[in-house]
Amino acid sequence: MVVTRFAPSPTGFLHVGGARTALFNWLLARHWDGKFLLRIEDTDRERSTPEAVEAIFSGLKWLGIDWDDEPLFQFSRMNRHVELAEKLVKEGKAYYCFCSPEELESMREEAKARGLPPKYNGMWRERDPKEAPDGIKPVIRLKIPREGETILQDLVQGTVAVANSQLDDMILVRSDGTPTFMLSVVVDDHDMGITHVIRGDDHLTNTFRHIQIHNALGWDIPQYGHIPLIHGADGAKLSKRHGALGIDAYRDQGYLPEAVCNCLLRLGWSHGDDEIISREQAIEWFDVDHLGKSASRLDFAKLLNLNGHYMREADNQRLFGDLLSMIGSVAEEKKERLLRGINGLKQRSKTMLELRDMAAIYLEEFAPAEIDAEGANIAKMAVSYMESEGNWDEKNLESRLRDITAKENIPFGKIASTLRNVLTGRKITPSIFDMLVAFGKDESLRRVKSVLL
Ligand code: GLU
Repeated sequence: MVVTRFAPSPTGFLHVGGARTALFNWLLARHWDGKFLLRIEDTDRERSTPEAVEAIFSGLKWLGIDWDDEPLFQFSRMNRHVELAEKLVKEGKAYYCFCSPEELESMREEAKARGLPPKYNGMWRERDPKEAPDGIKPVIRLKIPREGETILQDLVQGTVAVANSQLDDMILVRSDGTPTFMLSVVVDDHDMGITHVIRGDDHLTNTFRHIQIHNALGWDIPQYGHIPLIHGADGAKLSKRHGALGIDAYRDQGYLPEAVCNCLLRLGWSHGDDEIISREQAIEWFDVDHLGKSASRLDFAKLLNLNGHYMREADNQRLFGDLLSMIGSVAEEKKERLLRGINGLKQRSKTMLELRDMAAIYLEEFAPAEIDAEGANIAKMAVSYMESEGNWDEKNLESRLRDITAKENIPFGKIASTLRNVLTGRKITPSIFDMLVAFGKDESLRRVKSVLL
């Protein structure tokens, strides 16, 4: 069974990069009817906060990314991680290192002087711990093979290899007895039965170390896929200016979760030239073969277009519910008006914020508009037609108005702009038929008649 995971560190908000990683792992699991697990990597006690954990939960929920089983908190598994490191020491695959900070510093200086990257020199690799100096708490280091290379068969990057001589004997357990990120990730991935890991390519170099730990523990290695990081529309590294924001900021700017997911999906994965891909299709089509190797760009113009599409497609009741939660309490009669008007509003709104702004048409107090003599004539004529109209639906109203236009020889645009002005006092509105239906016959007549007084 395919088992994937999302393993965020709760040190800040859930940002777009993290959300995309979560989405890809979720889609892979759902595609194969597998499991998608959530692991909170909260071992950095200083920087991990409950608010960040909450932001991860709520961000994922909002995006519709649900996880199986209870989330696992990495810190709670510290003892297990340390026990395994000690087991490796017993087996001769890891060792205690008693270097003092000064010794480590001089190692670094020496490497620097020789033009080499700073690297631990293996000082305690073969030494007997009985020789340990007093007062130094040891770290546990992994014995990385000195020969050969570590090879990663990456689902995205292909075969990538590094000479083992490049990897130093990494620390598994710090001198304060806490396990390192390297060790914890490997043990948890194993214990959770993770089969596939899709993550950002900023983790690629760590992966060689992860592989070495898996090997030392005698465990199978999950399949890794390292996806390129997201860039801004101008190709530069993603910054706040580009939308490197928390997922909640996207919600606050009026984007729908399905549009955000669709946009994230296209950042590094493709299905032919398809741009609009529903959640159901994504689950059906998602695979690791079409993960891209080149950096992807977050394009807000595209996101806005996608959002407009999903706004038009969205269920009216759902948008109505979302809208009410944005605007708070509304009188019952206005609620009904809003519900009748929502279909027209969504056609012309690219975001929930635009929808909310336009919805004010149905909520604000009515003030009779100023009109000229020509406008008054049109209003008068409209009243006589409206009063005798029994069938107050959009289609019928539209065909009636077109008849009137022909019969009275007044351009349709003229009637429409007069009615728009008279009904709302605004120039940009949903279609007049949408509005006539939303206001209802009585209110529409009251408004048109009010300019004739
Ligand atoms: N906790 C790591 C991060 O937030 C992810 C580790 C992983 O995916 O293996 O970057």
